[in-house]
Amino acid sequence: MRIAIGGMFHESNSFSTEITTLDDFRRWSLTEGGEVVEHWRDSDSELAGMIDVAEAEGVELVPTCMAWAAPSGPIDDDAVAWIIGRIVAGLRGAGRVDGVLLSLHGASVGRSEPDPEARLLRAVREVIGPALPVIATTDFHANVSAEMVRALTSLVGYDTYPHVDFRPRGREAAEMMVRTVRGEIAPTVAQVRPPLMCVPQVQATADGPMHDIMEEAHAIEATRGVLNVTVSGGFAYNDIPEPGVSVVVTSDRDADLARSMADRLAKRIWSRRGDLVGEWPGPVEAVRLAMGAERKPVILVDIGDNVGGGTPGDGTGLLAELLRQGAGRAVAILHDPIAVERCIEAGLGTELALEVGGRSDPVYGPPCPVIGRVGMITDGSFDPGNILHKGFGASMGRTVRLDVSDNQLVLTERRTVPWSLGQLRSAGIEPAERGIIVVKAAIAYQLAYESIAGTTIECGTPGWTAPELGGLPYGRLRHPRWPLDRDVAWP
Ligand SMILES: [Zn+2]
Repeated sequence: MRIAIGGMFHESNSFSTEITTLDDFRRWSLTEGGEVVEHWRDSDSELAGMIDVAEAEGVELVPTCMAWAAPSGPIDDDAVAWIIGRIVAGLRGAGRVDGVLLSLHGASVGRSEPDPEARLLRAVREVIGPALPVIATTDFHANVSAEMVRALTSLVGYDTYPHVDFRPRGREAAEMMVRTVRGEIAPTVAQVRPPLMCVPQVQATADGPMHDIMEEAHAIEATRGVLNVTVSGGFAYNDIPEPGVSVVVTSDRDADLARSMADRLAKRIWSRRGDLVGEWPGPVEAVRLAMGAERKPVILVDIGDNVGGGTPGDGTGLLAELLRQGAGRAVAILHDPIAVERCIEAGLGTELALEVGGRSDPVYGPPCPVIGRVGMITDGSFDPGNILHKGFGASMGRTVRLDVSDNQLVLTERRTVPWSLGQLRSAGIEPAERGIIVVKAAIAYQLAYESIAGTTIECGTPGWTAPELGGLPYGRLRHPRWPLDRDVAWP
């Protein structure tokens, strides 16, 4: 059995002004041919899971191209075309294959292409035809379009948020592929999408509404004849016609079963829509709560500048408010290469006045004036621990710790997702010993920070991952759609 593998993985925030280029993919991970297997084999990823199964089952993998970049703004048109072109070229050069396995995110957006994954799948079908199986994995935040589903034999999405099942889902997809090629099963998919968006804060699968929904999904998955149930929470920060929740059920040969199960679960999710909204305090109230909290450290979550949702990581709203209210023992990480340069020029131990953050987009507040002492200069490398995406190199670029009285700023040259306590420790900060730590995130940070968090306060800061969707400048979105529109008749 010969199976082609590859993929394109990027969560694109439509509103971010930072366009994602091919160089961004190169900086993270852009591999072709044999490199794909070599690079991903031992990682905590879907591809690693696919490779596990291939090796166990004696499947010959034909690697094409795998492009992975951390969340940021829309992907440059040339980069979309290049990546799709390389996957297609890999397929054309592969000779006869029995199927195609792809690792996708599901919330990619190009500058002018609203659905790059559907375009990729169309291109794959053009090469291999309509008959061969194509199975993709997707992120829990995928906006799964009908066009994607049309081109796919099956779709296997994560079951968890924070995501901890990359590799098991890769295995599941590859096992389904092997059984399909052997003729043991014939996957049939059905999708139902309620007109419903929800923000990451209400999508955690450990408890709350999504926990209940995933339990139901697993119960349906245990039904005879059902091969997979994929609930996608969606990514509300894609400005596309239909961002949001999707249910895809894969059955063995039974289209009616897949359809009825998808329908049943989608209606259950729709019935919970009142639980899939929330309200979060603004910076003034959140900082007040944080300063008054008894159990330290307080993790003060900067929802609107969620780096893992594609924002710049230089929002100053919470920092400015912490300083204004006279907080002590606070820590914040800010992406600001200009401030890094200034501090390094000034030199270790030097006290200087400068502005930090607020440079990328006015929505994240103006630069914040501070007076601080350069406490540490590092190359930004840190031990990522065993949290997310094991196997990735971890570096914040050149990094400076600036001590502002007894508060500490970690200024980084590169945007870095807060998925590891190693970031702060590499700057000489023991997070458990601090008073308040600003974390620019939604939910994924919990894997790293829950072990030390005394109190968690989520703050509805402004930004392109703000929890108040009504404030976002949607242009392509199709109405009515909950919760932007409260009067929505469905089904
Ligand atoms: Zn995700």
